Order: sequence, then structure tokens, then C-alpha cells
Amino acid sequence: MLDVRDLDLFYGDAQALAGVSFTVPDGSITAIVGANGAGKTSLIRAIAGMEPPRAGSIRFDGHDITGKESFEICDLGLGQVAEGRQVFPTMSVQDNLELGAMVPRARKLATQSLERVWEMFPRLLERRKQLAGTLSGGEQQMLAIGRCLMGRPKMIMFDEPSLGLSPAMVHEVFAIIRRLHEDGMTVVLVEQNVAVSLHMADHACVLENGHVVMEGRGADLLGDDRVRAAYLGL
Ligand code: ATP
Repeated sequence: MLDVRDLDLFYGDAQALAGVSFTVPDGSITAIVGANGAGKTSLIRAIAGMEPPRAGSIRFDGHDITGKESFEICDLGLGQVAEGRQVFPTMSVQDNLELGAMVPRARKLATQSLERVWEMFPRLLERRKQLAGTLSGGEQQMLAIGRCLMGRPKMIMFDEPSLGLSPAMVHEVFAIIRRLHEDGMTVVLVEQNVAVSLHMADHACVLENGHVVMEGRGADLLGDDRVRAAYLGL
């Protein structure tokens, strides 16, 4: 579904990604694991068309998306739920959701998509007129996921979806990600909760200082001594 080859990304002179290559198999949950500052968010932003890479290529669902605008990438079916949720605080829940369906392919399906989101998140339906900024953190995360679904993605990249949420909400967010995957969604998951993300993942890669140092099955990485020592504290 996604193939990243030899990606370099710089912020000024500082290199955030160096020759990053990895694949996301169709229908998989692929976890990206790494310490703070390893480059996980930079990688997601580069794939989503929000940071231009200096070198390398990105293919998604048969299309070369290297250097394309994020709007175009979104229209091809690549969605992302950014770190920190990023809802529009002074707009209503429903208006936030409708903004997610602005790309041409999704616009035609907006009414149907909204029904699906209400079915999946009844709490958002109850609060559809409420300003997004007054929702709880967990509700804002639901809204961010719902807004992404309004764009009719084939693949969703989640950046730290459980950050700052209560344990019950963390559980709910992971249940939603599992449900989306069971319904056929390809998922990329960046998560501080490495044990949970590797348990969920079919496929995973480890980033260190902007380099991919390991790629393999989630279960194999969970059993790897270096991963256990560095990320699971075992
Ligand atoms: P975290 O888990 O802490 O969010 P991360 O793995 O997502 O970390 P990135 O946010 O991608 O890491 O950061 C990779 C490197 O790039 C870091 O050294 C960071 O300081 C740097 N960096 C990220 N964004 C910018 C920016 N906009 N300008 C300059 N440097 C940046």
C-alpha cells in the first residue's frame, strides 16, 4: 500500500530523516517505534505532503506521491490523525467533520460518511452543535478520527493517538483503531505505548536518529532483546 524509499528530510541544516526505507503492507497495522526525536512525526508529515523531502520517493496505492500537495495525497485516500488532535476549536463538531470531506472524492460521499461517523461515535452526534474546543481530550481525539474518516481514506496514519488521554479513553481509541482495521483499513501507528502498538501490529519498523534500524513482524520485534531493552524497559 505504501512504499518509502531512501527518504531524506532536513530542517535547515539539521537532518531529521536519513535514507529511510520501509513498507506498509496492504491491510496491515504497521507500527513505527522510536525514542523522542527519532523522526517519527517528521516521517508521517513527509508522507502526508506536509514537509518536502530532500531526496527519496514515496509511493502510495500505485501512485508516486513524492512532493505532492497534502490535499492531493488526501484525495488519493491517505489520511492522517495528527499528534495533538488539531481540531478547529471555535467551530462546531459537525462543521469540523464536514471540513474533513473537502477533497473531491470525499465530497460526493459526505452525507453517507457523516452517518457512518455518527454511528461509530454516538457521543459526537449528541454533541454535534457543541464547539470543538469545549470537548474533552478524548472526545477531541474521536472528532479528529471522525474528521479523517470523512475524507474516505484507504489508509490512516495515527501519530500518538493515546497521548494525554485517560486509561479508559486510551482503551477506547485502540478499540476504534482495531475496528477500523477489521473493516479493511490499512493503519500506520506511531505510539509512545510501544508494547500495545507492537502487540497490535502485523508489521513494524524501528527508527533511531532518523534511520530505520529494524523492520519486521510486530511479534518478532516484541521478542527482540534490543527492542525489549530500549523501548519496553525489560
Ligand atoms: P517525539 O516522539 O518526541 O514526537 P519524533 O520521533 O516524532 O519525536 P520528530 O518530531 O520527527 O521526532 O523530530 C525529529 C527531529 O527533527 C528532532 O531532532 C526535532 O527536534 C527536529 N524537528 C522536528 N520538527 C522540526 C522543525 N519544524 N524545525 C526544526 N527541527 C525540527
